[in-house]
Amino acid sequence: MTGHNREGTVTATRVLVLNSGSSSVKYQLLDMADGSRPAAGIVERIGEPGGAADHAEALKTVAAELAARGLGLDSPELAAVGHRVVHGGTRFTAPTLIDDEVLAAVEELAPLAPLHNPANVTGIRVARDLRPDLPQVAVFDTAFHSTVPEHAYRYAIDRETADAHQVRRYGFHGTSHAYVSRATARLLGRDPAEVNVIVLHLGNGASASAVRGGECVETSMGLTPLEGLVMGTRSGDLDPAVVFHLARVGGMRVAEIDTLLNKRSGLLGLCGDNDMREIARRMAEGDAAAQLAFDVYVHRLRKYVGAYTAVLGRVDAIAFTAGVGENSAAVRAAAMGGLEALGVELDPVRNAVRGSAARVVSAGGSRVAVAVVPTDEELEIAQQTYSLVTGR
Ligand code: AMP
Repeated sequence: MTGHNREGTVTATRVLVLNSGSSSVKYQLLDMADGSRPAAGIVERIGEPGGAADHAEALKTVAAELAARGLGLDSPELAAVGHRVVHGGTRFTAPTLIDDEVLAAVEELAPLAPLHNPANVTGIRVARDLRPDLPQVAVFDTAFHSTVPEHAYRYAIDRETADAHQVRRYGFHGTSHAYVSRATARLLGRDPAEVNVIVLHLGNGASASAVRGGECVETSMGLTPLEGLVMGTRSGDLDPAVVFHLARVGGMRVAEIDTLLNKRSGLLGLCGDNDMREIARRMAEGDAAAQLAFDVYVHRLRKYVGAYTAVLGRVDAIAFTAGVGENSAAVRAAAMGGLEALGVELDPVRNAVRGSAARVVSAGGSRVAVAVVPTDEELEIAQQTYSLVTGR
């Protein structure tokens, strides 16, 4: 086997990270020896006109792009492929070396993540076909939340019905919550095992988590990534009776309501735009719908910060991450404003400074540190993959 020395130790230092989403495949090649990233890219609009026909074709495009640069899957420097897999169910609570049985189990979880797990499975299949001898590792979006206690993950519905259909809260974005909670502790110069952090992952999808001493104890997404915060196109929390009402009174079919809540709600549903930059621009012009969308978004966020403060008891830091969290000083200011009674005091000057590095944006005297911590899911996946494959 290539990439090993005579004792069988892995000498290859690179990990290819594949993130097969519902309509795109993102890839990054990371070198764990020097921290460099020799290649990165994305194949978008899968299944749309002008895009790749399907995930298999998209992955072959990725492999061809890498090969054209002399970085193909046959490269002896490649130690493993790390796959982001969205749903690990109750079984997968740690990064897992993929074999036929694991692949079949990931496939069986498809009903819990119909848009994502099949795409992840295709990614794994194509990579295995191209390089059968190479270790492939699945890193699950749900895994970091496996420490959430039962009283937090269980829905208050009939237990037998819930268990028969695997209905419970799982949580997602786990790789990001894991990375950011640890990076926040590092930023504060403290051991992750001794700090309590609320992580606010605010991207197009958005979720919050409460992390006590490095372990996740609560998170906002549920059975699917629909629950919780207001997102770009997803509603987040609502009374489940809204669904019955829309079916009975609105005459909508289940599939239509699914599309409504996942694709035509959230910021987009409220004001016609799901990009926070566009919403900020419209707000500056006095646009009432954009302002309302922003206010609904921030109100939900504040409710979660309050709830998670109560869950944790003591909060050391609140970390903002992902597209909105890292870039929107306005969202951070609105979400953290008036929380002095909770020990939170933002520094308006620090908060307004743009940057790409992790930084503290709270005032010197703030009991709770507020931080902006850029997430790096690819690095986290690569590290977990490399560590599993090499034991280092
Ligand atoms: P992500 O899913 O993490 O890539 O985040 C994507 C979202 O981040 C976009 O939909 C935007 O709403 C938001 N975003 C990106 N850049 C900015 C910015 N400079 N200001 C406000 N929001 C931003």
